[in-house]
Amino acid sequence: MNGFKDPLIFFSSLMVVYVLYHADQVMKARYNYRIYPKYHQLQPLAKAMGCGRVVWNDALWLYKKAEIEKTDRPKNISSVVITQAKKTEARKWLSEVSSVVLQQSLRDLQTAWNNYFDSKKGKRKGKEVGKPKFKKKSSRQAIRFALNAFTVHSESVKLAKIGHVKMVVSRPLPSSPSSVTIIKDCAGRYFASFVVEVSQLIPPPSVPPNRGDAEGRGVGIDLGLTHFCILSTGEKVENPRLHKKMLKRIKKANRKLAKAKKDSKRRERRKRKLAKLHAKVKDQRTDFLHKLTTRLVRENQTLAVEDLNVAGLIKNRKLSRAISDAGWAKFKALLEAKCDKYGKDLIIVDRYYPSTQICSFCGKLGGKKELDVREWTCLYCNTVHDRDICAATNLLKYKDAGGQSESQNGRGASVSLPVAAVCDETSTNYEQFSLF
Ligand SMILES: [Zn+2]
Repeated sequence: MNGFKDPLIFFSSLMVVYVLYHADQVMKARYNYRIYPKYHQLQPLAKAMGCGRVVWNDALWLYKKAEIEKTDRPKNISSVVITQAKKTEARKWLSEVSSVVLQQSLRDLQTAWNNYFDSKKGKRKGKEVGKPKFKKKSSRQAIRFALNAFTVHSESVKLAKIGHVKMVVSRPLPSSPSSVTIIKDCAGRYFASFVVEVSQLIPPPSVPPNRGDAEGRGVGIDLGLTHFCILSTGEKVENPRLHKKMLKRIKKANRKLAKAKKDSKRRERRKRKLAKLHAKVKDQRTDFLHKLTTRLVRENQTLAVEDLNVAGLIKNRKLSRAISDAGWAKFKALLEAKCDKYGKDLIIVDRYYPSTQICSFCGKLGGKKELDVREWTCLYCNTVHDRDICAATNLLKYKDAGGQSESQNGRGASVSLPVAAVCDETSTNYEQFSLF
C-alpha cells in the first residue's frame, strides 16, 4: 500500500497494494488514496463504521451460536440483523446509515466465514484462513461501499449518506473500481481503497538508458540482516533498520501510555501517539520495499530469491525483531506481485538449496560455513568468494542446476530438491577430507 523524498508524505497520499489473481491474465489491483473528511463528515463516517461493526458482530454471534448448537446457519440473516433489528429499540440507529454499508458488511462476513470453512476442508489454496473475529471499536475500522453507493471524482469521492470527501489522487485509477473501502487506521488517518481490474498486462517499465537492456538480464537476491540484501551483481543494499531507529521513541511512548490512567482522555491521546509512531515505521519500510522491488523488477528479466521460512526464523528470539524489522515477507510478496504484473520470471529457490556452500565459479560443493565466515576460498579452483555475493549468484544459477521456476504457479509448495544428495553433510565432509 504504500512524494518519494519524504516517505510519510508520499504514503499518506498514495499506497498501492497488488492483489494477485492468476485467472487468464486478469488481475485485481488495489489503489489506496489518502482522504481528508471534513469535520462534519467525521461523525457520519464513525456512525457508518460503528453500524457496520455491530451488524458484523451480531451476525457472527448468530453463526457461532449455530455452530455450537449444531444447527443450520440462519438463512435470512440479513433480515434478522438488519431489517428486523432496525425496528428494535436497541438497534434502531442502524437506519441512520446507508443500508448498502450494512449489507456489504454482512456479505464480507459471509465471505470470511466461507473462506474459513473452505480452508478448513482443504478446498482453499494458500495460507490457512482463521475464523472471523468480533470487531473491536479500538482497532482499525473499515467499511465497504458497493458500486451503487459511491462515485469517484477527480479530487474527491462521493459516499452514500456522507457526501463528497476530499481525496488526494496521486495517480489516476486505471479502470472503474468495483468497490471502495474506507479505512480509518489506528493512527487516525483515513484512506480510500479501490479494487480495480487490470485486464491486460501493463507493459514493463522502461529501463534507464545507462543500465542496458533488461531482456535476458538476471539477478540473484540473497536476503540478509547486516545488509538488507546482496545482489549477484555485487551490490549490497543497505538495511535501513527503521524500526531500530524509532525504537527509543516507541519505548518512551509505551512507558508513557502505561502510566496513563485507564479510560482517560490522556490515555487515548498517548495511544494515538504510539500508533502514529508505528504507522510511520510501517510507511517508511513499505516505501523502501516498494522502491527496491520496482528497481529490481525494472532492471532484470529473471529474479531469483530464496524461499525463506520467515515464520520459523522469527521464533529465534534473538533475531526476531531484526527479521520482522527487515520485512522479508513483504519484500517477497511485492516481488512476486510485480514480476507477475510485468511478465518477469521469478525463481523461488528451495530453502534447502545449499546456496552458501557451492562455488559460484566452478559449481563444486564446499562444506558448510559458520555464519561468521564472510569470505572463503574454493578448494577446487582457488576463487576467493564473498559469502553473500557467491550465495546470490548461486540463487540465480538454481534453475540451471535443476530447480524449477515457480513463476507460473505463484506460491505453491517448494519444489523438491534436485540436489538433495549434496546436502548430506557427511558426504561433503568426506569429499573435503579426500582433497588433502
Ligand atoms: Zn570453485
